[in-house]
Amino acid sequence: MSAPVLRFAPSPNGHLHLGHAYSALLNQHIARELGGRFLVRIEDIDTVRCTDKLCADALEDLEWLGLEWDGPVRRQSEHLSAYTAALNELEQKGLLYRGYLTRSEIKQAIADKELATGTPWPRDPDGAPLYPGGSQEPAVTGRPFALRLNMQKALAQLADLVFWPETGVGPQGETGDVPAVPSEWGDVILARKDTPTSYHLSVVVDDALQGITHVVRGQDLFYATAVHRVLQQLLGLPCPTYQHHGLILDDDGRKLSKSARDTSLRELRADGVTARQIRTRLGFG
Ligand code: GLU
Repeated sequence: MSAPVLRFAPSPNGHLHLGHAYSALLNQHIARELGGRFLVRIEDIDTVRCTDKLCADALEDLEWLGLEWDGPVRRQSEHLSAYTAALNELEQKGLLYRGYLTRSEIKQAIADKELATGTPWPRDPDGAPLYPGGSQEPAVTGRPFALRLNMQKALAQLADLVFWPETGVGPQGETGDVPAVPSEWGDVILARKDTPTSYHLSVVVDDALQGITHVVRGQDLFYATAVHRVLQQLLGLPCPTYQHHGLILDDDGRKLSKSARDTSLRELRADGVTARQIRTRLGFG
C-alpha cells in the first residue's frame, strides 16, 4: 500500500475561518496518526477572487495556527497545463461539448420547460438547476461558451458501478461504500472561457498527481464526490479514501462563510485570541 498522503486545499477567495482551521488541523492530525505526509494546496483557479494577497494571507494564517506541512505548496494557478491535458483527454473521448446558453437564457429555458410539463425542473445536490442545453446546441460564433461534460455519454462509457469508500459520514448518514449518483449533477462545467479548468477537474487531477490517499474535507463537498469519481474513472486515476467531516457552525447554527469576519482567523487573532486557544476550541489542544 502506498504511504498515506493528505492535503488541505483551501480556495482563498476570502480569509480563512474557523471551519478551515478545523479541516486543516484534522488533516494534519490524521496524517501524523497514519505516519503519512500532510500537504497544503492552494485552489486559486479563480484568479480574480483568489488574489495573491489572499493566498499569502492564507498561508500566514496556517503558519500562525501552528500547522507544518511537507514540501512546497502547490498553487493551482501555476499548473493550468495539467488541467488542459486532462481536458484534452476527455475531448478525445468525445465527452465534451460547448454550452453557449447565457444565465438568462438558462433561466428562460427552464421556465418554459416547467410551464410546458407542469413539473419542476431537476436541480443538482447544491440546489442549482441542471443545464437545460445539450450536446446538440448550435455553435454561436463569437459568443463565450463553457466546456461541459456530456454526463450521459460519460456514464455509458464506464463499465463499473461507481462508488466511493467513505470513512466519515454524509449529510444523510451515508457511510461505507457510498454509491455515486453523478447524473444528479447533469452536464457539469469543466472549463470556461476565462478559467481553463473547474474545481471538479483540477481537484481530481491534483489529488492523483500529488498521490493523495485520503481526502478529508467538509460535508458540503460530499455529493460532489460523485462527479470526482466519474472523472477519475474516465481519466484512469486512482480513487482515494474519503472522509467528509461535519461543518463548524456559528452560534446561530449557520455554516461559516468567508465574509463572516467575526470568525476569520485574522479577526480572532486581532482580538487577542491565541492559536492555542483556537486549537483547543476545535478539539486539537
Ligand atoms: N478548495 C475547496 C474549498 O475550499 C476544497 C477542495 C477539496 O477539499 O476537495 O472548498
